[in-house]
Amino acid sequence: MNDLLADADICVKCGLCLPHCPTYTKTQNENESPRGRIALIQAWAGGHLETSKNLVEHIDNCLLCRSCERVCPAVVPYGRLIDNFRGQIKAHKKFSLAGTLLKEVSHNKISNRLAQSGLSFYQSSGLQKMARFFKLPELLHLDKVDRLLSAQSDSPPLKPSYFTEISPVKGNVGLFIGCMGSLLDHQTVDAAIKVLTAAGFNVHLPEQQTCCGALDRHDGDIEKAEQLAATNCSAFADKSLDAIVTIASGCGGQMKEYQQAEFAGKVVDISQFLIKSGCDLSDQLLPLAASVCLHTPCSLKNVMREEQGAVKLLQQIPGIKIRPLPATIQCCGSAGSYMLDHPQMAQALLSDLLNVALEDQPEYLVSSNIGCALHISAGLRERGVALEVLHPAALIARQLK
Ligand code: SF4
Ligand code: SF4
Repeated sequence: MNDLLADADICVKCGLCLPHCPTYTKTQNENESPRGRIALIQAWAGGHLETSKNLVEHIDNCLLCRSCERVCPAVVPYGRLIDNFRGQIKAHKKFSLAGTLLKEVSHNKISNRLAQSGLSFYQSSGLQKMARFFKLPELLHLDKVDRLLSAQSDSPPLKPSYFTEISPVKGNVGLFIGCMGSLLDHQTVDAAIKVLTAAGFNVHLPEQQTCCGALDRHDGDIEKAEQLAATNCSAFADKSLDAIVTIASGCGGQMKEYQQAEFAGKVVDISQFLIKSGCDLSDQLLPLAASVCLHTPCSLKNVMREEQGAVKLLQQIPGIKIRPLPATIQCCGSAGSYMLDHPQMAQALLSDLLNVALEDQPEYLVSSNIGCALHISAGLRERGVALEVLHPAALIARQLK
């Protein structure tokens, strides 16, 4: 309680964060703003406000995009404040079936492998088409999950504990693939290995690695999040690793804030890592005369603060035209399990993004976070737009000679 009050008391109520907050922009309701949420927590922690459905909802509606934290002149640790508050009131929070399933698949290796085989069968056997025709996902309350799945299954997963050995070598990196990467995004995992080895790095994928813990921390389960953090620290304990490279900025942001400073200090987004290591791949890349819309996830911009890496890396492709989304475009609405639990707000934010992204008729849309990429791809399918969404590393890998 004292920690909550100490963090909330830093806020000077200036309101500079309000125009940067997606939920405030959409609702114009002070309770849905960073300043309003901080005031609610302050009143609750000070004993002036009861725990109520309304209070829980206002805090729960926050996307944790942390745009407010980035612009706050008083440096309020907003993410920490919300996570800690959710930890205190987690008994009052309702969890959706979709969110609960997502966590089960994220934490449990057996469930993750079963989900991999089940998904592959669901997508390739015609079962998905039939289930959608009979509206089974809606009947089972799993339509929010089903919309994220494309009609094709991904390539087969990598064998665990993979380690490349190249020569000459510039260094060794650990690759964090995350639970969604291992389930739904093998293309990006394969691409990351290809690009990192092309740049001269040995890539290690420790089998023991697990979910980053973001879903748990943001749901207030701090204990579970810390258990997962400890497992990842032990998985990547190898002192020869120069960096722990991530291909999903949602996970990267979480891991950069682990209390284990040695681990946290090595975490870096793949694009940023390649640029910081001075890698120039331009001679190894085929030209691409295409317009690419660049989506920068909130976690990459506001938490990892490594948004320049993707632009600089993609600029190495000869002939490419990169069009970053304008700063007026806020969070896409995916935000971990937010898109499953708050579909209306998630869709409204996605709609704003797609309206702007499609204006220039890009040939590709790139995003450094799997959750955002799935949500954006689903939105494009719902609009009937055939625009490929992929990770910057996947586009680079495709252009390697
Ligand atoms: S910008 Fe910071 S200090 Fe100002 S109202 Fe927002 S959170 Fe409070
Ligand atoms: S984290 Fe994002 S949604 Fe939440 S209050 Fe801050 S700006 Fe608004």
